[in-house]
Amino acid sequence: MKNIIVTGGCGFLGTNLCRLLLEQGHNVYAVDNFFTGTKENAEFLKQYKSFNVIEHDVIEPLKVDFAVDEIYHLACPASPPYYQKEPIFTAKTSFCGALNMLELAKEKNAKILLTSTSEIYGEPLVHPQVETYRGNVNTIGIRSCYDEGKRISETLFFDYWRMYDLKIKVVRIFNTYGPFMQIDDGRVVTNFIRQAIYGEDITIYGDGTQTRSFCYVDDLVSGLEKMMNSRDDFRGPVNLGNPGEFTMLELADMVLEYIDTKSKIVFRPLPSDDPTRRRPDITLASEELGWKPGVALREGLKNTIKYFQERGI
Ligand code: NAD
Ligand code: UDP
Repeated sequence: MKNIIVTGGCGFLGTNLCRLLLEQGHNVYAVDNFFTGTKENAEFLKQYKSFNVIEHDVIEPLKVDFAVDEIYHLACPASPPYYQKEPIFTAKTSFCGALNMLELAKEKNAKILLTSTSEIYGEPLVHPQVETYRGNVNTIGIRSCYDEGKRISETLFFDYWRMYDLKIKVVRIFNTYGPFMQIDDGRVVTNFIRQAIYGEDITIYGDGTQTRSFCYVDDLVSGLEKMMNSRDDFRGPVNLGNPGEFTMLELADMVLEYIDTKSKIVFRPLPSDDPTRRRPDITLASEELGWKPGVALREGLKNTIKYFQERGI
């Protein structure tokens, strides 16, 4: 049984990850300021006796009075409308948050994993994206607070390893969806499902030919756990995502197929710097972690729709 901190533990991925770790019998401490995470998620996790919440903003240093074996550092808003609403907070969370959690890991001699992102590849000129590709990121655009924030987080992680021999792990996550997302978080999967359930227009940004690769959350959190428990000299960065690639038009059609609705597709302006194509090369994850996703988009989408319908959103 380990003592594990999950920053951002009451957000979408955090709640799913905490649940997995709690079911494995660990003591889990979610550190969250509830910027995009919810008290409802915290209440759900409190059914497990070994779950604890520390309400804290990772922009500030964190002191804890217990031994820490592992830190999963997830804290950071991930949905474009939310991270763009508070871009300076997002940049500070990425830099100061990583620094403070690395300091905590150093003090406690804990292993620490960063959830970086496919966004660090920006508008990729290499397709599919391999970890050795260094990316094509705008430093001054509306997505930069997040993209550049995650790039400096990765840099800090590798500097702490080089300077202090800290045990680090860096994962680059591609678009993930599933239960415990917030229905109003503004990401494409939740937008389309919400719009279809309420019979509103399905908003496609741009012409809908841009692509994403969508990973079901159960697959993703199992990859995070495998990475944390991989051999010490495998630090990443490693891509985790589902290599199935879909246009937003294809995604909208699938949602319309599974939800009986009067919704129609409408087109809205494409936000600036919205990446055109995105698909992970997961050879490294498959070779090093023996990981590959098992849930296809259609199946995962059905589960996610069912989750929201049962909650009566
Ligand atoms: P989310 O917004 O649902 O969760 C983020 C959590 O972090 C929330 O609980 C939020 O309250 C908390 N948080 C934010 N800033 C904080 C701060 N300063 N101090 C303390 N807590 C703070 O997002 P998510 O989808 O669960 O993403 C989790 C992590 O995974 C993020 O680091 C994100 O960058 C990364 N990621 C996610 C995806 C995805 O598709 N979901 C893709 C790539 C990377
Ligand atoms: N998108 C869309 N309609 C929406 C929300 C998003 O067409 O209502 C598009 C968005 O422009 C992007 C893709 O869907 O091309 C994925 O967007 P999301 O915000 O989910 O993730 P990210 O852009 O960070 O990959």
